Amino acid sequence: MDHLDLLPSPVLVTDARGHILTANSDLLALVGGVAEQWRGRYLDCLLPAPSRIFLQTHVWPLMLRHGAVQELYLHLHNAAGERVPVMVNGRRGLWDEQDCIFWVFFVALERSRFEAELVEARGRAQRLAAELSQANAELRSVHHQLSQHTQSIESENRELSALSLTDPLTRLGNRRALERAVAQWQAQSEPGATAALLMVDVDHFKRVNDKYGHEEGDRVLQELAHQLQASKRASDVVVRYGGEEFALWLPDAGPEGAGAIAQRVHQLMKNVTVHKKPVTVSIGVSCAQQTLLHGQDSVLLTRLLHEADVALYRAKSTGRNRTEWYNDVPSRS
Ligand code: GH3
Ligand code: MG
Ligand code: MG
Repeated sequence: MDHLDLLPSPVLVTDARGHILTANSDLLALVGGVAEQWRGRYLDCLLPAPSRIFLQTHVWPLMLRHGAVQELYLHLHNAAGERVPVMVNGRRGLWDEQDCIFWVFFVALERSRFEAELVEARGRAQRLAAELSQANAELRSVHHQLSQHTQSIESENRELSALSLTDPLTRLGNRRALERAVAQWQAQSEPGATAALLMVDVDHFKRVNDKYGHEEGDRVLQELAHQLQASKRASDVVVRYGGEEFALWLPDAGPEGAGAIAQRVHQLMKNVTVHKKPVTVSIGVSCAQQTLLHGQDSVLLTRLLHEADVALYRAKSTGRNRTEWYNDVPSRS
């Protein structure tokens, strides 16, 4: 029995150029045949074509330079002509004073199977990554569309909410705008703060309509709205409360401030004429003072409107084109 047969791996010995000198029994069991049959043949004849190319281009240059190769991955033909994956270590050395190379093979069927699984798993991971990236792109596109849609809904909502607070004829705010402004003052002003509500009603407006037609009446209302806008301070709110009735909400105005604004309104009305005759208005004023309770007073506006109406009625009945106050002493709790 050859000593090489004691080694627990397939072993092959070639001369320095690759001619087979001998093989142990494990190697013969792998590739088939007997040692004599292989002796003198070139190492290449054990390998399939790709491994042969690898041997020529990679293994031999390494062997010539370093005198050894390690952990190279090749295939051998087995006795049945099948390709068997193997790892191989080779080292040059003297054997019976002859320059030889010892090749030790390790069958790597398991490693090969793992590798195939690894390649398959990598392929799957790549496919998943591609699907994920496509799904992300779709998600981004949906998100983009959704945010555009949301923006357009928001802008429609803003338009709708502006419309719901606006009087279409004069472009002034409407009753709802007045309610909102008063509620805001109630919620935000300090106790002791004063405010005033002016109800402005056109004098004998029916005559304008009757005499010059509804369209002329509309023009006068628009012109009036324009002048009222000009008479107010930045924080004041002017609304068209009803047909030819306007309301001015003057947050944080005291009685003097309210009186000055009312005076201004009467002055500016001179700019609104119907067939060269100026339009006049009557004004009823009601004043409020913020108390700790006003913040929860749900009927404050109703009360102020009623009081301004009472004052307005007095202005009408005492000759029109004038301002009347509901209360001579505007501050109350
Ligand atoms: P007074 O001085 O007592 O307030 O008299 P008036 O004629 O102004 O009051 P009245 O309430 O009798 O008439 C108001 C008129 O306003 C009647 C209505 O035809 C007119 N009117 C209401 N809304 C509009 C509108 O949008 N356009 C026009 N052209 N007229 C309107
Ligand atoms: Mg009226
Ligand atoms: Mg009127």
